[in-house]
Amino acid sequence: MKKIIDDAWLLGLGNANAVLLRDGDDLVLFDAGFPDKEQVVFDAIDQLGKRRSDLKHLIFTHGHPDHIGSAAAIVRETGATTWMHAADAPLAETGGPFRSMTRAPGLMHALVFRMVWNPEERMQPFGIDRHMADGDVLPLAGGLRVIGTPGHCAGQVAFLWRGERLLIGGDAFMNVFGLADPVGFEDEAEGRRSQRKLAALQFDAAAFGHGGALTSKAASRIRHKLGM
Ligand SMILES: [Zn+2]
Ligand SMILES: [Zn+2]
Repeated sequence: MKKIIDDAWLLGLGNANAVLLRDGDDLVLFDAGFPDKEQVVFDAIDQLGKRRSDLKHLIFTHGHPDHIGSAAAIVRETGATTWMHAADAPLAETGGPFRSMTRAPGLMHALVFRMVWNPEERMQPFGIDRHMADGDVLPLAGGLRVIGTPGHCAGQVAFLWRGERLLIGGDAFMNVFGLADPVGFEDEAEGRRSQRKLAALQFDAAAFGHGGALTSKAASRIRHKLGM
């Protein structure tokens, strides 16, 4: 586990990230990586001196297989309440099939696409307890602002935490070999609108679904990347 800012850590669940937040006595997890990676989460909970039942919420940036793979196992052990946008909830509740996505341009994307995207995969299904949508403020962890960011995936959302301290950005971008497009888009034009929507916000740090976190000046680095 790698600290992003105070009380926030990046966990590697295979070639996909989860973000763990500490909210007083409770823990909140964003995304659940590839399958069979639940032990990474349990070890992180142990390291913080918490019990598995202290993980109260499991929130998803979107319903792709590389973000929900270990969810069923984590929910079984922790009893966490699950949150997802209604457009993606059926993906979790069936475990697939997944909607198709077109690879973003570039050689690096061709490489990473193969590492993280296999629409033929089937995940262990699990229930979604709560839906959330653009503009919601989730009443947990001191308030989590939900920002709709469709394009990479129809049900994708991002989150702002502690005012403008941290953006949890899902796959709106990735940061594997520098800040870049996600591996692909269901709707590229919409994905680019979502990127600019995020870039217009203020936040210091940002964590995405793939690659390292940006720990400072994240919003201005994204604006620079987009030529804004
Ligand atoms: Zn994705
Ligand atoms: Zn992903």
